[in-house]
Amino acid sequence: MKIKSLQAREILDSRGNPTLEVEVIAESKTFLQRKSVKAWSGVPSGASTGDFEAVELRDGNKKRFAGKGVLQAVKNVNETIAPALLDIDVLEQKKIDQKMIELDGTDNKSRLGANAIVGVSMAVARVGAIASGKKLFEYIAELSENDGPILKVSRPFFNVINGGVHAGNKLAFQEFMISPNLGSFQENYRGAAEVYHALKEIIKENFGSGSTLVGDEGGFAPIDFYRESEALDILMQAIQKAGYEKRVDIALDVAASEFFVDGRYNLGFKTKEDDFRTTEEMMEHYLELVEKYPIISLEDPFEQNDFKSFAKLRKILQKKGVQVVGDDLTVSNPQRIKQAIKNKSCNALLLKINQIGTVSEAIEAFKLAQKHNWRVMVSHRSGETPDDFIADFAVGLGAEQIKSGATARGERTVKYNRLLALEKFLK
Ligand code: PEP
Ligand code: MG
Repeated sequence: MKIKSLQAREILDSRGNPTLEVEVIAESKTFLQRKSVKAWSGVPSGASTGDFEAVELRDGNKKRFAGKGVLQAVKNVNETIAPALLDIDVLEQKKIDQKMIELDGTDNKSRLGANAIVGVSMAVARVGAIASGKKLFEYIAELSENDGPILKVSRPFFNVINGGVHAGNKLAFQEFMISPNLGSFQENYRGAAEVYHALKEIIKENFGSGSTLVGDEGGFAPIDFYRESEALDILMQAIQKAGYEKRVDIALDVAASEFFVDGRYNLGFKTKEDDFRTTEEMMEHYLELVEKYPIISLEDPFEQNDFKSFAKLRKILQKKGVQVVGDDLTVSNPQRIKQAIKNKSCNALLLKINQIGTVSEAIEAFKLAQKHNWRVMVSHRSGETPDDFIADFAVGLGAEQIKSGATARGERTVKYNRLLALEKFLK
């Protein structure tokens, strides 16, 4: 089947910011019959974006959406990418992605926009799956030469307390996640939802119902929390209240680049008072947290250029069974991942398709990490759409981990709900 039409539109994401929706139609024609199939994609968008990510093209016209419009990116799909891809076989995912990389011609996709390119790339993968009569995860498995797509997403990470640039509270750390270890995905999902509701009750009892408002990824964001230990203590209470003591682990995404100022980390960056910590002090702080709480995963503990401190912490934590995840450090970019491998900075990769900009390059990033025995956590962005692509992507690749925010908010649960369906299907 060949690409017949490719159309982008400006829509709004879960934060109310403009993003793209891309629709692709593929057609096959024989003398007797014409058949067409179509698919769509919704483009996610980060808030704590790394400096080395592929560039999300924004119009900058302050009269529309305060400069955040994506009409130029839409135009790039409709007028530059679409004509170049017309009549190419939809199953040629690599060729199509490569063609867009060449059309763009920059190192970071800044000319056409990674948001334009990734929207096309994901929609093409979806239509390729339909055209070949496969489910999306099966098609991803084929593209990534994974011959055993079984549900390996044994470790979902649910973000139940939001901080950093995802919430209007005072917490500097961005994500406080829970990872139940209850066997099936279905049980882990249920356990996480029960902890989420217990957490809501405890926050309400302690701080009033006005404190149960949520952040960008659906986790609670009480204004009273400042120290990480306050969030973690209440999370431990919630785990206990829900009846899951010792069966639910914790993961943190510090997103430390967001509060790295002049060589130090400012834990008070969302308050009126500065609260600076040196790299060594942060290191000690992490070691204390890991001793006190059942933390199994620590993402972006240092700023995005500090490969050395990542490595130092990784070495200590690896012995304790705690993984160190690269996100802003590695930006799903094979070049940056190679740097992290060389420096031994991480043992896990956060994989976000829009950080690199095409499905093919994201697969390459996955394989590189896998080859070096890193774990891979497939990830949503803080700005999302109802597209559930990453659920199939994680299963198709054979990734063991996924994070898609809280067990609430439609744009988050749509991915988890898809995993429920895939688990059932694969059984
Ligand atoms: C993250 O940092 O892991 C994340 C999901 O946030 P964002 O999409 O804002 O980068
Ligand atoms: Mg992160």
